[in-house]
Amino acid sequence: MTLQKTLEEYQAEITRCVRCGACQAHCPVYLETGREGSVARGKIVLAASVLTGAIGLDAQLQHELSLCLLCGSCVTTCPNQVPTDAIVAALRRRITADHGLSAIGKGVAALTGSPSLLRGVLRGAGLLSPLLFKKIPAASGLQLRFSPDNLKERSLPPIPNRHLFARLPEFLEEQPDTPAVGFFAGCAITYLYPEVGEALVGLLQAFGYPVFLPKNQGCCGMPALSSGNGPLLHQLAATNLEAFAGRKVSCILTACASCHGALAGHYAEKAGNRFATPIVDIHAFLKQEGIIDRLAALPKWDQRQRVTYHDPCHMRTQGITQAPRELLRALPQVEFVEMTEAALCCGLGGTFSAAHPELSRAIGDRKLAGLEASGATLVASGCPGCVMQLQDIVNRAGMPIKAVHTLDLIQQAMTETPR
Ligand code: SF4
Ligand code: SF4
Repeated sequence: MTLQKTLEEYQAEITRCVRCGACQAHCPVYLETGREGSVARGKIVLAASVLTGAIGLDAQLQHELSLCLLCGSCVTTCPNQVPTDAIVAALRRRITADHGLSAIGKGVAALTGSPSLLRGVLRGAGLLSPLLFKKIPAASGLQLRFSPDNLKERSLPPIPNRHLFARLPEFLEEQPDTPAVGFFAGCAITYLYPEVGEALVGLLQAFGYPVFLPKNQGCCGMPALSSGNGPLLHQLAATNLEAFAGRKVSCILTACASCHGALAGHYAEKAGNRFATPIVDIHAFLKQEGIIDRLAALPKWDQRQRVTYHDPCHMRTQGITQAPRELLRALPQVEFVEMTEAALCCGLGGTFSAAHPELSRAIGDRKLAGLEASGATLVASGCPGCVMQLQDIVNRAGMPIKAVHTLDLIQQAMTETPR
C-alpha cells in the first residue's frame, strides 16, 4: 500500500491540460532555460506520452523530469489546476522503480532514512568544519563556505554541537486547561537551525501553550519525494504519523515550508490527511490565535532594522502569504519593506540544487535586484531551506544582507531590551 498515486491514477488530471501555456510565466526553471521541456505544459506532454507508450523512460526523459523544483507555482496559476508537481513526482517514482535511485537519491535515502546516520555525519562535519569550511566576512551573517568542488563556494550555516532534540524535552507543560500543540521540526531546523525550533517553543511557552515535540519524528519525506523514492516517503510518513499518535494535540505546527508541503499536501495525495489533527504553519497559527496583536503591543524600538520578506514556494502555494508579513509589520524592532519578486523561487528545490547547482544559482540570482532595491539589511523567510539559500545568494553577490527566519525576529522582540 502506498499513499501516493501512480502515473496511471493521474490520467484524468493529465487530460485536463489544454496546452494554454499560462504556466510559462510562472515556472522558475522555464524562465531561466526557455525550453518547453522545462515547463509544466511540456512535462504533461511527456507524462501523456509515457502513458500511451509513445516514449520510454530514457535518459532524455529523465533529464527533462529532473528540471523541476516541485515548487507548485504552475499548479496555482493553471486555469485547470493540473497538479504538475505531483505528476512529475509520480513519473520520478516510475523511473526509480525501473532504473533504481540516482546517486543523489541514494545519498538522500541513506541520510533521511536513518536519523542516527544523519546525526553521525553532521557530528563529523561539525568536527571537521575548521578544515572543510573557510569563514567569510562576519558582516554577511553567520555563514561558512564549503570548499570541496561539488559544493564549491556554497554558504552553509555552521553545524551546531547539539541538535534540537538534545536541547528540549519531549513535552513542555504550560497551562493545563490550554490544549497542547504538536511541533514537527524537520531536519533543517533540528540539525542546522535548532535555535529556530527553540524560538518557536519559547514563544508558545510564553503564551501558555503546552508543546509536544516527539523525539521519534523523522524527516518529512520531501527529499524522498523529490528523488522519486516512494517506499522511503511511505516509511517516513508512517514514522511521523506514529510519532504524533502518542499524545492528543489540537494541531501540529511546522516552521518549515517544505515540511508543511509534505505533511499537509503530499502525505494526503491518495489516502486523505492521515494525521488526526490539522497541520498548521506557525505564522498562520500566530495569526489565528491573535498573537500578532499581542506582539504589536510591545514597545517600539527607536532603532529599527529594515526587513523584507521572501515567500517560500510551499507556503505561497498553500496561500500563506499575509500572516508572515503581518507578523513582521507588528514587530517593534522592524521596519518592514516589500521587495519586488518576493514570490520568486529561491532556487533551492530540495535535491534540485544538488543535481543542477548552476541552474539553481541562476534562479536564485533573480532575487538580487529586488533585495538590493529594498534597502533591507535583513531578509526574513518562513522556511529554513530558503534562509540557507538566500544567505548563499547574497553572500555570492557580496551584499551585506543577513537571511533570518521570521521566528528569529520574534524571539528578538520578546527577549531583547528595546534600543
Ligand atoms: S499545465 Fe495548466 S497552465 Fe500549463 S498549459 Fe496545461 S492547462 Fe495551461
Ligand atoms: S513545479 Fe515549479 S519548476 Fe516544476 S514545472 Fe511547475 S513551476 Fe516549473
